[in-house]
Amino acid sequence: MPPDPAPPPATVPTLGSVNSPTTGPAVLIIEDDEGIGGGLLRALGGQGYRPLWCQTVAQARIQALLDIDVVLLDLGLPDGDGLNLCRQLRRQRAELPIIILTARSAETDIVVGLDAGAIDYLVKPFRLAELLARLRAHTRRHPDVPAEPDVLTVGDLTVDVAARRLHRAGVEVQPRAKEFDLLTVLMRHAGKVVTRAMAMSQVWDENWYGSTKTLDVHIAALRQRLGESGPDNSRITTLRGVGYRLELPPEDGQDR
Ligand code: CA
Repeated sequence: MPPDPAPPPATVPTLGSVNSPTTGPAVLIIEDDEGIGGGLLRALGGQGYRPLWCQTVAQARIQALLDIDVVLLDLGLPDGDGLNLCRQLRRQRAELPIIILTARSAETDIVVGLDAGAIDYLVKPFRLAELLARLRAHTRRHPDVPAEPDVLTVGDLTVDVAARRLHRAGVEVQPRAKEFDLLTVLMRHAGKVVTRAMAMSQVWDENWYGSTKTLDVHIAALRQRLGESGPDNSRITTLRGVGYRLELPPEDGQDR
């Protein structure tokens, strides 16, 4: 007896896509708001990414994740909770970066999202430039991601990434290798939160899922290296359960 024919693809998602390069990182946008989803689709297509857009949990589950490089995930979806979807995607592909897009700005919501396996989050409304910076950070191993600047300056700190040199107020400081890498990540996102998962994956190991105690130890060492006496008067702000933020000096604040 022949096997039953495959059911008709009645539930195939109507994935949006635009004419975009076929080689850039593939971004799966899971967002039910048409204005945001459609806007992201166009914007990312114009920035060298391959965006795909679906609007429901059901569509996102159907979308094969094999070729996706990064996920943008709205939490409030019409047919389910984005947090559950986040956990499921994390189980299916442990290394897949998931960035939560949320209007829920309460810190507890963000912590729950990060605990569900997201590497990063953006609170709506967010600026496109900020989203692009996050996408670059999370797809930087992709061969078609444009290079990031090699020399970073925030206040009196200057990092030459290629030469691996750090200057503070013109005086060279010699941090340990991981301290340098951590500071580089913080400086690339100066004024914005670097989540614990983001720091761990970018400084230690892409698939790092253990205790993040070592991160706190390195932050403490870095503060000392920068001549700071402790967390209370540090240019690196602690966001408990979320991550760290390198503060911009007031005169650099125009890009916030
Ligand atoms: Ca929504």
